[in-house]
Amino acid sequence: MSNSLALLATVFVSCLSSAAVLGYLARRKVAGLRRWLAAHCLFATASGVLFVVHARPSATVMLASCMLVLAGALLMLQGCRAFVGEPPYRTGEHLALGMFACALVYWTWVSPTISARAAAMSFALAYARIAVGWTIWRARVRGRPQYGHWLVLCAALVGGIVYLARGVLNAFFADPSMEWPKHIAPDFAFLGVSILSLPILSIGLVMLANDRLMQQVEHLATFDDLTGALVRRAFMTRGATLSHTARAAHTELCVAIIDIDDFKTINDRHGHAAGDRVLADFGAEVHRHMRAGDVFGRLGGEEFAILFPHTSMAEAAQRVGSMLAAVSCPPPGANGKLAYAFSAGISECAQAESLSDALAAADATLYRAKRAGKCRIELARTERVRHAANDIARSVY
Ligand code: GH3
Ligand code: MG
Ligand code: MG
Repeated sequence: MSNSLALLATVFVSCLSSAAVLGYLARRKVAGLRRWLAAHCLFATASGVLFVVHARPSATVMLASCMLVLAGALLMLQGCRAFVGEPPYRTGEHLALGMFACALVYWTWVSPTISARAAAMSFALAYARIAVGWTIWRARVRGRPQYGHWLVLCAALVGGIVYLARGVLNAFFADPSMEWPKHIAPDFAFLGVSILSLPILSIGLVMLANDRLMQQVEHLATFDDLTGALVRRAFMTRGATLSHTARAAHTELCVAIIDIDDFKTINDRHGHAAGDRVLADFGAEVHRHMRAGDVFGRLGGEEFAILFPHTSMAEAAQRVGSMLAAVSCPPPGANGKLAYAFSAGISECAQAESLSDALAAADATLYRAKRAGKCRIELARTERVRHAANDIARSVY
């Protein structure tokens, strides 16, 4: 098997295997992944066709293969932009693609010049590769694995730079009369390195897609979909760290347990979907009132907890009171928004042995608030706070 045939076979097999893996992942919702899959299918088709007709490819086959590769490169780039959340299309790129296509047609049918065609292809592919590497590398996220980003950057840079060098070689130093497959040796070496960097780039993209899926699963396991609050386990883990730190540093840390009042009645009267909207609204309202460092969790059903670091019990009661005022008295513009109320119990973590003890104290206080008539905020220990918001008429539904 000649060197060029071996190269085409390698590219065909690697594109096909990358396409198979991306195809397997394509059912998941990862932005850009389907474009990557389509790009690899186009590359595999182009290299497969060239492999089959390697001995004597017609001008039409060569042209079609070049077009497939160009379209694949653009799809790959657009996929990367979609993956990192950028708009995938750039008008200028489509115009450039059209111009390159015209140039390829000219140098294939009108004035056949293999070196000019190779130069045009190389410059276009160099741009696409470098843009892919740059797009992915810029989208690194702190605290997430970055191996895939670096792999894509390195493979894209190697491919891009070598394509650039091949473009220069073909534009200025190659014999314009040479014919396929009699490449001059350096051109073939350049082509080999740039093409072989593609499988590495593909592996990097598969890693990124896999990492994105992991991120989605971690997010689902950490955050409640409806309210955006931490799920109980995540809340307890973060809360335990926070309470340990607060006790060690002798700083204030309050915990509030909040339970929506008569939630079953809301469900029964307005339906489960309306109940869900109330939960979502409550989550949004808490997020609007949260400060940096606060931790918000859903303990279960319509019961929530918020940790307020560096906050006294009175301040915490005031902040929970503003939340109560906001949900029980929606602004006049909030069309059709259901008004509801909640009760809360607040305790101080520094006065408890552990987070669980502080939560138990807050829970006992919450039930005192329920027994006292709901729609109110009670503090653990002796004093009882009746916030101004408690004066708002309770029976709104
Ligand atoms: P109280 O004022 O004493 O807290 O009474 P309540 O009706 O709020 O409390 P109860 O424990 O009697 O009822 C809670 C209801 O919340 C029962 C359950 O079906 C409902 N619920 C739990 N999770 C969800 C959810 O995710 N969505 C909806 N719509 N309802 C939920
Ligand atoms: Mg309730
Ligand atoms: Mg409850």
